[in-house]
Amino acid sequence: MAETSDIYEKVMDVARRRGFVWPSSEIYGSVAGFIDYGPLGAMMKRNIENLWRSFYVFQEGYYEIECPTVGVEAIFVASGHVKEFADKMVQCPHCGEYLRADHIADDNGIANAGTLSAEALQAALHELPCPVCEEPLGEAGVFAFNLMFETTIGPGSQRKGYLRPETAQGIFTDFSRLLRFYRDKLPFGAVQIGKSYRNEISPRQGMIRLREFSQAEAEIFVHPDEKDHPAFYRYADYTVPLLTIERQLEDQEPAGFTMRAAVDEGVIVNEYVAYYIALTHQILTAIGVDPARLRFRQHLPDERAHYAADCWDAEVYSGRFGWVEIVGIADRTDYDLRSHAGHSGNSMTVFIPYDEPKLVKRRRIVADMGVLGPRFRGKAKAIADALAASNPGEDGARITVDGEEIFIPADLYQIREEEEEVRGEEVMPHVIEPSYGIDRMIYVALEHSYDEDEVDGEVRKVLRLPAAVAPVQVAVFPLMNRDSLDEIAQAITGRLTRCRILAQYDDSGAIGRRYRRQDEIGTPYAITVDYDTLEDNTVTIRDRDSTEQIRVPIERLPQILPALISGAVTFPELKV
Ligand code: AMP
Repeated sequence: MAETSDIYEKVMDVARRRGFVWPSSEIYGSVAGFIDYGPLGAMMKRNIENLWRSFYVFQEGYYEIECPTVGVEAIFVASGHVKEFADKMVQCPHCGEYLRADHIADDNGIANAGTLSAEALQAALHELPCPVCEEPLGEAGVFAFNLMFETTIGPGSQRKGYLRPETAQGIFTDFSRLLRFYRDKLPFGAVQIGKSYRNEISPRQGMIRLREFSQAEAEIFVHPDEKDHPAFYRYADYTVPLLTIERQLEDQEPAGFTMRAAVDEGVIVNEYVAYYIALTHQILTAIGVDPARLRFRQHLPDERAHYAADCWDAEVYSGRFGWVEIVGIADRTDYDLRSHAGHSGNSMTVFIPYDEPKLVKRRRIVADMGVLGPRFRGKAKAIADALAASNPGEDGARITVDGEEIFIPADLYQIREEEEEVRGEEVMPHVIEPSYGIDRMIYVALEHSYDEDEVDGEVRKVLRLPAAVAPVQVAVFPLMNRDSLDEIAQAITGRLTRCRILAQYDDSGAIGRRYRRQDEIGTPYAITVDYDTLEDNTVTIRDRDSTEQIRVPIERLPQILPALISGAVTFPELKV
């Protein structure tokens, strides 16, 4: 494994030099919290997004939707972001720098800094030095700073809008249409991959904390009383390291649980949450996260949103940043739908038919209109409605109509006990939400796959990326740029790209240097066309990780390479 002390510099050096990640708008002075993905980074990002899709869209069957990144104010009033989506900030009285108050407290060993009130944080910061100028923060006030970027929609600044701070809200606001699309049945899910924006206070953590970043979120709508996942068997025996609330409070390390045991023992609230924890473990290891540096941490009660039934973060250990949250998985109950239903006035329930219609006894209060009509005239209808909804006493009912309290004696209405056939009930679904940060996934995949070893007496930098996420999957080299070796190599490249393999032709420099260049960007396989090719139509395939080579006939490449890339065959298996 590569040394971890300066791993971030090493990874970012490769990332910048080789076109994975660049500072944004560099020619005008880049701004913290924004990055550009260069050609290899953008390719790797697509590969990771597509791998995510292969689970959520293909395996789970949750369709993807795409909503605008600008949303009207009402959405974020209903979601709670306008009021609540703020971080606690402090401005250094000496150097003027704006800083995250909880991060300073955290870095100075103050426990649960993220859950402290502004007053408690201010008291805690009093003696602490500003991380920028190192002067004491003293009386500097701690205040809330809303993280949403505000904008106006249309000319005249009439309508306030916000850049979305998460992709989820678009799925909630489309709930009724999605329900119809899924033929009015629970459970169903929808996913969205796209940009989100948060005006982070002092983003100093490279790709980990950005102001514009990509999320992949799934919102799964389930019946509140049916939280057994229909395909739970897939992950029932899957083991995941869990840092439970209990283990955190007792300062213990995570412990491995099968998902079946975690649900049965009440450690994870239900099968849905457990299922997506295991699926997340599978995705993160598939993109190259080292399983030994991956854990799932349960939110402590004071850190969890008040409405959430259970919440877990997939955390990955970074040599530079420590444990970093990469994915959040929560049972959000009916908070989102209830709140959008309340604010928008739209129904957000699902009609669930009973297996058999039920006969339900109902008490109906029916007004005697023959008497009420002449006596109350225009008000009679309103009085009859108010009576129907009232709870009468023995002598009569006290009702309020147009602000006026009226007593209606018991002989002016009848109470009828009736039986009614009820076919089903309206249910407000609960939401299970796995929420992934794509940029963080990319960074930890790069960091965990970065390695240095020695090849031919020289230090080799290598990204041991899984083939499914490597930006280039196969490099094709002619040993020499002549004697038709180059033409054969180009023809092979063309054939592979037509099979949708990301193949790159390279004929510049000595062959050893070409291998090194590909190792550094994580290309898992390199094909070399040499003079033997002219004799027997075979080429070598070199394996990045072992640097071993085998000879195979050219015509077998379109079968062998997809099998290697998909993992259906391993390189050592090919040798025998
Ligand atoms: P949250 O809604 O805060 O739980 O965020 C969901 C996921 O989005 C997190 O697990 C992160 O992976 C990612 N994320 C949140 N904030 C940022 C940020 N400022 N920069 C990059 N990724 C982020």
